[in-house]
Amino acid sequence: MLETTIAGSLPKPVWLAKPRMLWAPWQLAGEDLAEGKHDATLLALKEQEDAGIDIVTDGEQARQHFVHGFLERIDGVDFGRRVTMGIRNNRYEALVPTVTGPLRRTGSVHAFEAEIARAHTKRRLKFTLPGPMTIVDTIADTYYGDKVALAMAFAELLNDEARELTAIGVDVIQFDEPAFNVYGEAVTEWGIAALHRAAEGLTCKTAVHICYGYGIKANIDWKAGLGPEWRHYEAIFPALAASRIDQISVECAGSKVPIELLGLLGGKDVLLGAIDVASERVEKPEEVAATVERALSFVPAERLFPCTNCGMAPMGRPLAIGKLVALVAGAALVHARISGRPG
Ligand code: ZN
Repeated sequence: MLETTIAGSLPKPVWLAKPRMLWAPWQLAGEDLAEGKHDATLLALKEQEDAGIDIVTDGEQARQHFVHGFLERIDGVDFGRRVTMGIRNNRYEALVPTVTGPLRRTGSVHAFEAEIARAHTKRRLKFTLPGPMTIVDTIADTYYGDKVALAMAFAELLNDEARELTAIGVDVIQFDEPAFNVYGEAVTEWGIAALHRAAEGLTCKTAVHICYGYGIKANIDWKAGLGPEWRHYEAIFPALAASRIDQISVECAGSKVPIELLGLLGGKDVLLGAIDVASERVEKPEEVAATVERALSFVPAERLFPCTNCGMAPMGRPLAIGKLVALVAGAALVHARISGRPG
């Protein structure tokens, strides 16, 4: 009970990629880059294990970005035709590749780092993939001409990839869908259907991470204007509760998502964001514990997994590690209280 995990990414070592930025350029090339990714994956596992995280990830050390890392190995996606596009409903601009032909996976995308991670940890291993709706929101398209058709085409490829990762021994496949809190109606119209296609037939646990984004300025500014209560999830939680996805990852640390909304996720595992990725301060274990305690009124301890709000890719490494330690210490405080409770 109260097993800890992380949303997915961790900062990369400075010798592998430029620190403290998204889409950070690699500092190595060719075989050196492959070796660097290998070594950084081991470090990410070791740091999570030492912090006491129960369900670990590869830290996304082998991909430049959580969406484009997947797209780089897909036929039909042209990285030579990059355009600047407003993403997440024009919250910020990104340089994105273009779909110019039928989509086809040319081979495994993430088997390299999944195999390394599986070989070097005995803990349960979670692997993250971008969700179909978020991919569609982070790419230009001159071929399909229809968002839903494009999402379904990506979902099929994601499913092939996820099946291979499961065969490698991954215990949880998590689809990252930050677009889910931007396009509420589309989530119920086709977002969850696309997610189901991506998760079809998987024998491992499945999760979806929804969030208010990395701790970058564009997101922090956006959140400042969202008002005193963030109720975006009210519309999509009942649909997620009715979905075939096992676990839902949500941001609850320093967030204005009303905690009672978790009650709408009845029956699902909740990966509870209890670490703020937008703050430069390491949480006190008591603060983590307080977030977990608030959630316990709406989610039973067996279904609650203390987690980070979002990925930590753009953060400084010592800060990220400090936050992992705080997460585990906070979860342990609540665990001790529950186990020590008479009766
Ligand atoms: Zn996130």
